[in-house]
Amino acid sequence: NYVIFNGNIIERSEANVDIEDRGYQFGDGVYEVIRVYNSKMFTATEHLERIILSAKKIGMELTYTVNEMKELLTQLITKNSLEHGTIYMQFSRGVAPRNHPYPPSDVAHSFVAYTKEVARPLANLENGVKAILKEDIRWLLCDIKSLNLLGNVMAKQEAVSQGCYEAIQHRGEVVTEGSSSNISIIKDGTLYTHPASNLILNGITRRKMIEVCEKDGIPVVEEPFSLNDLNTADEVFLSSTTSEITPIVQINEKQVGEGVPGVLTKRIQGLFDAAIESECGS
Ligand code: PMP
Repeated sequence: NYVIFNGNIIERSEANVDIEDRGYQFGDGVYEVIRVYNSKMFTATEHLERIILSAKKIGMELTYTVNEMKELLTQLITKNSLEHGTIYMQFSRGVAPRNHPYPPSDVAHSFVAYTKEVARPLANLENGVKAILKEDIRWLLCDIKSLNLLGNVMAKQEAVSQGCYEAIQHRGEVVTEGSSSNISIIKDGTLYTHPASNLILNGITRRKMIEVCEKDGIPVVEEPFSLNDLNTADEVFLSSTTSEITPIVQINEKQVGEGVPGVLTKRIQGLFDAAIESECGS
C-alpha cells in the first residue's frame, strides 16, 4: 500500500507526520476527495483546480500544477491497483515551530495523498437515506475545502447518533448544505439548490448535476431556498463525490413526498451515471 508523501510515492508505513505540522495542530490546510471508477479519476481537473483555489484563498500558493498532480495521482492508482475507490489528498502549510502567524514562505507545504477502495453506495442510491435538520454553526468561508471540519464532524455525528445519514444544515430559515454534501430539492419539476457562495462548498458533484440537468432540459434554479420549501418539496436529494446523487426520503420524523426516491431524482441519477460512464467507462 503506497501513499504520496511530499511528492514521492512511498510505503504508507514509511510516512511520518511531524507533531508540529500545521495541518495537525491548526487544521491549517486544504484537501480534496476524488472518485476513482475503473481505475480512472472522475472530474479530476475540477477537483485539482478547486484545491489550488482553496489553497489560494488561505494564502497558500501550491507549487504543483493540475497536470503534475494528475500524473502523480495516476501513478498512485496504478501502484495500489485501485479499481473503485477514492483518493484523499491534502496540503498543509507545512512544519514550523507552533505559532499562529504563517511561517516564512520558504517553509514547504506538506502534501499527502492515499487511496481507499470504496464500492458505489448502491443500496442508498436505490432506497434513499434519512436526514436530520441542524442549525449551521460553521464559519463564513465554507467555500474553502479546509481541513477544519469540526462543525461538519459535529453535525454528522448528531445525524448518525439519530440513525440518520446526513444533517441538512440551515442558517435561520435558509437551507445551506449537508455536513459532507450539497442539498437540492425538486418542486413542480424544477431543481432548486443553494448558489455557490461563501456559505457552501461548490461541490463538483453539484456542478456536474447542474450541467447534466441543463443539458437534459430539467430547469435549475441556483437560489437559496427555505426550510418551508424543503418541508414542502416533492423530492430532496444530496450530492457528493462519494455519495453521488443520494435520495433523501425522510427528514426528522417527516416523509419526503411518498417516502421513496422521486422520479426526477432517479432521472438525474441516470444522467449522472451516464456522465461517469462517458468519462470512466471501461
Ligand atoms: N459540502 C461539503 C461540506 C462537503 O464536505 C462536500 C464533500 N466533500 C460537498 C459539499 C460535496 O462536494 P463534492 O461534490 O465536490 O464532493
